[in-house]
Amino acid sequence: MDARHATILTIDLAALAANYRFFVDQLDAGSCGAAVKADAYGCGLENVAPALAAAGCRQFFVATLDEGIAARDVLGGGAEIFVLNGPVAGSEAEFAEHGLLPVLNDLGQIERWRGAAVVHLDSGMSRLGLPPAEVATLAAEPERLAGIELRYVMSHLACADEPERPENAAQLGLFQNLRAQLPPARASLANSAGILLGPQYHFDLARPGIGLYGGNPLASGPNPVRQVVSLQAKIAQVREIDSPQTVGYGAAHRATGPSRIATVPVGYADGYPRSLSQRGFASIAGVRVALVGRVSMDLITLDVSALPPQTAQPGSLVELLGGEVDIDELAAAAGTISYELLTGLGRRYRRRYLGAAADVETPR
Ligand SMILES: *Cc1c(COP(=O)(O)O)cnc(C)c1O
Repeated sequence: MDARHATILTIDLAALAANYRFFVDQLDAGSCGAAVKADAYGCGLENVAPALAAAGCRQFFVATLDEGIAARDVLGGGAEIFVLNGPVAGSEAEFAEHGLLPVLNDLGQIERWRGAAVVHLDSGMSRLGLPPAEVATLAAEPERLAGIELRYVMSHLACADEPERPENAAQLGLFQNLRAQLPPARASLANSAGILLGPQYHFDLARPGIGLYGGNPLASGPNPVRQVVSLQAKIAQVREIDSPQTVGYGAAHRATGPSRIATVPVGYADGYPRSLSQRGFASIAGVRVALVGRVSMDLITLDVSALPPQTAQPGSLVELLGGEVDIDELAAAAGTISYELLTGLGRRYRRRYLGAAADVETPR
């Protein structure tokens, strides 16, 4: 580990590419795009997008216009870049200027756009997209689509991470029905978990996100993809406690007997959730240790009493994520999901990218 840095976040681009190929291999036909919104789920668009392109990805999904422009800068002309939130009124010219494909989510967005686009049909999220009544309007008044080159129609699954849920088949059925009311177009439905639901969910274009970055696409059961993200930090200080003593804010942890507490320079300002107070865990030399006390802005405290002093001393490496620390298990302990841990990954870590053409380090 780079000597002057106390924390290092490693993104394994070879594992990312392997995960992309895993999803490609699930598909009989159709192509496999990638969701790279939110700075590629916190992993860094600048490095992730080229690695996916090198693995064969040509279709990229972002959430906003600014993310689309950033993706265009990184990827150059060849890639198809879809902007899921669609154009805010007045931003259409910028979409066109950067060659971005808007996902049109309502009749207003459809009215204001001319050119290539995706139309989003709401099959059960009640969030973005045209609900069945608006699809019927579009079917009855086809001139509303005049001048729109319908690249795809899409929809999004609410429960794909739980394959046994009946909502999955219901959404599939409604999507087919809504799609049939519109002019023929290619279709896109599946996120990472949707791909795993089987071929009837695949259509012409899949949109995996979380599984590319190593999170388990499924809510339970073994994780079929490789780990991509790992976070290591060096112990800053070790406190020997003999008499009863409290640790950290709120005196939330009380050491009753002799113990040793290691302080590690990562906190909620780095996206390490404060909800892991008293319930997080880490790994030192392969041994799991408990986070005790509260997570503060820049620091956490670990109970290292069970380890030999030479294994847990200032400078010793702690695995906080990845390796022995499963991202989905840590997210569950924090009361959240891997998506939120990843997209919250802090800006103060030294970032290291493995497995690109040349391994690169970016100070950020
Ligand atoms: C984020 C997103 C995806 C990717 O979903 P994962 O669960 O991360 O695979 C696909 N489609 C849409 C519309 C999304 O917003």
